[in-house]
Formats: sequence, C-alpha cells, structure tokens
Amino acid sequence: MSRWLVLLTAVFAASLGWSQKEAPSSPPVAAIRAGVLIDGESNAPRRNQVIIIRGNMIAEVADASAVHIPAGAEVIDLSQATVLPGLIDAHTHIFLQGEEPSQGGYDVQLLKQPLALRAARATVSVRRALEQGFTTLRDMETEGAGYGDVGIKEAIEAGYIPGPRLFVSTRAISTTGGYPLEGYSPEIEVPKGVQIIDGPVPARKAAREQLDHGADWIKVYMTHRSWVGKNGDLASQPTLTVEELRAIVDETHGWGKKVACHAYSGEGLQRALDGGCDSIEHGLALTDANVAQMVKQGTWLCPTFTVYYYDNSPADTPEGQRDRKRISAHEESFRKALKAGVKIAFGTDVGGFPWTEPIAQEFAHMVEFGMSPMQAIQSATSRAADLLDMKGKIGVIAPGAYADVVAVWGDPVANIKILGNVGFVMKDGKVFKNELGQRGNR
Ligand SMILES: [Zn+2]
Repeated sequence: MSRWLVLLTAVFAASLGWSQKEAPSSPPVAAIRAGVLIDGESNAPRRNQVIIIRGNMIAEVADASAVHIPAGAEVIDLSQATVLPGLIDAHTHIFLQGEEPSQGGYDVQLLKQPLALRAARATVSVRRALEQGFTTLRDMETEGAGYGDVGIKEAIEAGYIPGPRLFVSTRAISTTGGYPLEGYSPEIEVPKGVQIIDGPVPARKAAREQLDHGADWIKVYMTHRSWVGKNGDLASQPTLTVEELRAIVDETHGWGKKVACHAYSGEGLQRALDGGCDSIEHGLALTDANVAQMVKQGTWLCPTFTVYYYDNSPADTPEGQRDRKRISAHEESFRKALKAGVKIAFGTDVGGFPWTEPIAQEFAHMVEFGMSPMQAIQSATSRAADLLDMKGKIGVIAPGAYADVVAVWGDPVANIKILGNVGFVMKDGKVFKNELGQRGNR
C-alpha cells in the first residue's frame, strides 16, 4: 500500500466517523396556540389555530382540533391572545434620536458625537423596535453615520445584539443645497447628512458606491425645504433632475434593488415619478395626476404621519404654518391615494421622533384617515413585505415564512391602539419577549 493510499484511507475513515457522530439533528419544534390568528394576508381572523414552527420557519398552520403537535415540541400557549405576523416599519432612522431643537437638534450628532456613540445608541433603537413587535425595518438612511447601518445589520445577523431584520439604505443621496448641515459660514466646510451629487455621472457613481458597500435600498431626496406657497399650497424645493434620478434608478435596478424617494410635493415629486422611483416617502401633497401615475406605474406610497406631530413650531410663525400644512396636506393625500388603490406600506420616520415613543401610534392615524384596521395591519405585514420583495417570507403567518410572530391581549381589529401593547415577540423562531404565554413541553 502506498503512503498516499494509507493517507487516503485514513482520511476516508475519519470522515466516516465524523459524519456518524455529527448526524444532522432535526431543528427544535415549537407549537404556538393562537386564540385568534390574524395571518397578515387574509381579511378575516381565524379562531383556535396552532402554528407549528421548525427551527426558524413556520411549517404548518392549522385548526387546533385538526393538528398533531409533535412529541417534544415546546408549546407556547397564546390561546387567550391575538397572534399576528411580526410587524414591519418601512421607514425608520436607527441613527436618529429625535433630538430636541433645544439640545442642539440634528446638527450636534454630525458635529460633536463620535460615531461609536451613535452606533451604541442605534443598538438601543433596534432593540426598542423589536420590543414593540417590529421584527423588520426598512431603515431610510444613517444621517451622516455613513455605513453604520450595514454594521448594525451584521451585528444583529451574527447574534451579537438583538434587533429586527434590517433592510438598509446607507448614506442616501441629494444635491448641493439639498440637505443639512446648512446655515454655517460659506467659508467653513461642514459634514452633510447625505452623499451630495450634481450630475448623472456622480449620481450613478454614488449609487454604485452605496450598493457596493451593502445598501439594500437606495434612498434619494427629491425635495428638500418646504414652505406654504403663494396660493396656500405646500411648496417644496426640488433637488435632483430627472436625468440624475434616472441614472440612479437604472443602476440600482440593475443590481436587483429598489429606489425610495423622499418627495413632498410639486416639481420634485413629479421628477421622482418620472424618474421611475419605486416608493414615494411621505408624499405629503399628491395631486390627482400624481396618484393616477402612481397607480399606473405601481409606485408605492410610504406615508409617515407620526413624525409630523412632533416639534411643531408656534402656529403664528411661517415654520409653524408650514408644519400644520404638512399635517393637513398629508391626510388629504393619503385619503386620495387610498381611494385610488395606490399600494401603501406602513412607515413612521421613527428616529425623527424619539425611540422612547410608541411606533404603533401610526396605526391610529391610518385608521383615522380612512383605512380599516385590517388594512392598516396588512400595510405593516404582507403589504410591506411585498414592498421589500419578501412576500410569503415575512409579514405573514403561513408555511414557508420565517417564524416572526407577535401577540397582543384583545382585538386590534376592534381597537387598533391595542397594537401599542405587544406582549409577545418571536423573531426567526426565537422568543425575544413573552409577557403573555405559558410555555411548556408537550
Ligand atoms: Zn425619513
């Protein structure tokens, strides 16, 4: 026997022994008893359901009377609660903390805070989201914290810190004169909260850089300053040209990713639609023609009511009038879009207001402005999943979806505010919070 053959035989024997010792064990099985199940897609809740979870995936959902719970499964008894898919906030800023203007507002974060401080606070933001039942976030840019969101996402995925699934957009893009910091002496160079571009070639390059460094979405600011216009409308300053946006959209779509456009009104909003953006963020003052174009193009609307109720200037100032106009125009636009059948995903802009405040307050605004409670729930589950190209994987309780599951006491269809009290959170098959259910082994 040659030395090679001896070696080969030894290696083979060793690998055989290894495979015998490490035979693949089946993943842990859990069974959730759901008193009421709102699955995220169906319009009608179902009573007395059992959700069988293998590892991090939902394997089966069935009537409690018909299901066989496997021996050894961990049973989580939520038979007195309402069970829903993990919620999705499609517009967040984990690197913002809703800074009080009196404490220096937005600028101190970029001028005075070390990135490590901002990253440490972002770990608290993502934990806060998960505690409230939001198991997925589309985070809409880091506000001068560069690619910090990619790092936070990696830390969550590696299990170092608890947090939701993150879809990140890194630095975002605007034009010269199109983003803070501003108001400083022209002789001083100050950092900007976004990547500034002028021209289609730099625009494409910025998108390439951001995609290369891990952006799941590209975020573009298509309007910046806003004020009450001459005829009482909400006016806003346009930023990128259609050509600049087209370069970004073309590049991003080539990577199989999507473009989210912050757009309030007027010319900038029109350019966002003509440039082929995938989602309009805020969309405060949509015209009938804008709405028709969104329906035709399949453009998503991500309204964000909650943030506009914070830090309003006094009513007798131009800023204060602008702040109030934003709220009234937003309601009118939303009602119009809803009626016309525009695709709507739940978003809050949390970070623009403090993470200590409830994220779920957005639901109450959506219902107040015309959505049914079930529509509002679906906007934060299956609809938002569709926006994220994750239909069937998140935002739904069905076989083949990730086991992202939350629960509340009471009936959120009767009282949407109940979603502000999520008492059970499971993400990826792991229980993160449980104030509701008895747990035991079958
Ligand atoms: Zn935002």
